[in-house]
Amino acid sequence: MSLTHMQIKELLDENLKHECEGFGPDKVCVRIAAIGELPSRFGDFHIFAFYNNWDGKEHAAIVRGDVTGAENVPVRVHSECLTGDAIGSLRCDCRDQLETALKEIGQMDKGILLYMRQEGRGIGLINKIRAYGLQDHGYDTVEANLALGFRDDEREYSVAAHMLFSLKVKSIQLMTNNPRKIENLTQHGVVVNGRIPVIIPPNPHNEFYLRTKAEKSGHMLDSFGKLHLQEQGDRPVIDGMTPEQVTQLEQN
Ligand SMILES: [Zn+2]
Ligand SMILES: [Zn+2]
Repeated sequence: MSLTHMQIKELLDENLKHECEGFGPDKVCVRIAAIGELPSRFGDFHIFAFYNNWDGKEHAAIVRGDVTGAENVPVRVHSECLTGDAIGSLRCDCRDQLETALKEIGQMDKGILLYMRQEGRGIGLINKIRAYGLQDHGYDTVEANLALGFRDDEREYSVAAHMLFSLKVKSIQLMTNNPRKIENLTQHGVVVNGRIPVIIPPNPHNEFYLRTKAEKSGHMLDSFGKLHLQEQGDRPVIDGMTPEQVTQLEQN
């Protein structure tokens, strides 16, 4: 069952006036600004576009079914990656993660993908490409890491948490391989009743993760020794990994 026109109108009307004081550590407030149907290759969704008072970014929720007042709604939080999501870059695994989540949610009664418009987890496109460029020119990973070093996960979670409140979700099951994400959302008041591991099917593009080892720095090297930067909060778990490899990912 999907959202009715009446529900959509009510949500939009309520959000016009919505203003909360002192939500989260940074007084983050979010409003649903627009809602539209979004038929896609992964199934039929509604897309919610949000305004927020903190980062000026237009975050989105891709929503399957009627999630208002619902318990245990499967939720995935995805950080925008222009090069991966839209262009199909093989420098990261963002598109695999995004497609896997959308395919799964597209087959469920209810589910949400929060699409956070924070390129490379908030460092911005310029810094991300700067890091790519440094690596291309043979710099060691230290400089590349510096360029990638100012992530601000904390506030991403308070925006994401408010987006879930705006959607009137009562409790969620987080689709993640990263237990720390659950703690962060919980700290911002989200009721997380469980975790759904995200297992990515193997393909020629993510094969390097299957053959690789996790470095001390936590970065992933392919079999040619080339660094692949992690741009999502989750490390990819790919179908076919050994239990040891999965544990290793969680520990890094
Ligand atoms: Zn608010
Ligand atoms: Zn990416």
